Amino acid sequence: MNPQDLWLEEVFTDRRVGTIRRMTPVDGAGARDAGRDVLYVGETQVMSQLGALPINFVLEAKSHPTADEVWEKVRARNPTLSRATVYNTLNLFVEKGLLRTQAVREGALVFDPRVARHHHLIDEETGAIHDVPWEAVKVTGEKSLREYDVEEYQVVMRGRKRKS
Ligand SMILES: [Zn+2]
Repeated sequence: MNPQDLWLEEVFTDRRVGTIRRMTPVDGAGARDAGRDVLYVGETQVMSQLGALPINFVLEAKSHPTADEVWEKVRARNPTLSRATVYNTLNLFVEKGLLRTQAVREGALVFDPRVARHHHLIDEETGAIHDVPWEAVKVTGEKSLREYDVEEYQVVMRGRKRKS
């Protein structure tokens, strides 16, 4: 085994439609390797005239891609897959709770492999969308909004990553 290429793999699945694999880079001792990014790999299959066709798509934890961006990447490997197939697949994953959509980019819905609650910070220099842990930012007062039933909320911050 190559210790530079070790991953901890966790599988999230509805056991019917598909799976999302969370690939966490780890070092030889099994600890998180901070030098590499966490990847999420979606896997499913669609029926085509040629039979069942496997689809897999990679979502980088920090990329929060749009459906078109996912399609661009999938198409590079599977040129026969239509845009509609990839769109439908992503929406099915959302329906099953394996992905969620976020309105964190102007005019575009992005797909987020982290389905647990979290906040976002948009880097104004690079456009990157960073996940911020739920516990890191506290929102209060939502219960005082008497005219609304608040189902969920999140904070979308703008700024830039500090150079350390
Ligand atoms: Zn996110």
